Amino acid sequence: MVKYKIAHDKDLCIGCGACVSMCPDNWEIDDEGKAKIINDEVENIGCNKDAKDSCPVDCIKIKEIK
Ligand code: SF4
Repeated sequence: MVKYKIAHDKDLCIGCGACVSMCPDNWEIDDEGKAKIINDEVENIGCNKDAKDSCPVDCIKIKEIK
């Protein structure tokens, strides 16, 4: 079963909230006002791809893992 690993570079994140809007099931804004992944390994990429595509600073990376 292919799974996906989602990585988020918090240093680059500007806290715009686009990822949370696109994928509220797996993204939230933390106490520092930056995005936070709820589950960083998922079986189905689902809306995480939309979150990645919506990020203006390209700080979300998605990798397939076995
Ligand atoms: S879309 Fe990108 S910059 Fe905006 S909050 Fe999410 S991870 Fe941060």
